[in-house]
Amino acid sequence: MGVEEKLPSGVLLSTVEGLAGYMRKASFWPATFGLACCAIEMMTSGGPKYDLARFGMEVFRASPRQADLMIVAGRVSQKMAPVLRQIYDQMAEPKWVLAMGVCASSGGMFNNYAIVQGVDHVVPVDMYLPGCPPRPEMLIDAILKLHDKVQHTPLGANRQAQIRELEAEGLVA
Ligand code: SF4
Repeated sequence: MGVEEKLPSGVLLSTVEGLAGYMRKASFWPATFGLACCAIEMMTSGGPKYDLARFGMEVFRASPRQADLMIVAGRVSQKMAPVLRQIYDQMAEPKWVLAMGVCASSGGMFNNYAIVQGVDHVVPVDMYLPGCPPRPEMLIDAILKLHDKVQHTPLGANRQAQIRELEAEGLVA
């Protein structure tokens, strides 16, 4: 008989890492900023109809130092790219990035010199969400998929190593 079967029902066994992952995903705090039209859908997701608060996310933080999720909601202009990177750098580890919409993911229809052709040229992206704009349900679906990734991120995982890899490949500046 296994240890779990000997224990009375109602006892949950886990690891510290599993518990920390669960806590992280259940208290995901996005940084407050939007770049273009996708941001309207992001704001709607936080409202009472779609109620992102159900997933522990009602607190959009005005300070990047208190945020662990960057939702890049809209196209990123070349002028805005260094600002976005600075916000990312100010966020504490561990942190995650969601590219919301086709413009943030690849430049979308703005295939021109003024727009960054995918925010992964500036910061490492964990989740790409297509659409123009993605509906709030789609954003929530992407966040829930990201939750799964967050829950299984090992304790002490260092994003800087990932950034160095991307820099070596010339993918981020
Ligand atoms: Fe606007 Fe569409 Fe681009 Fe989103 S994907 S920023 S809605 S043009």
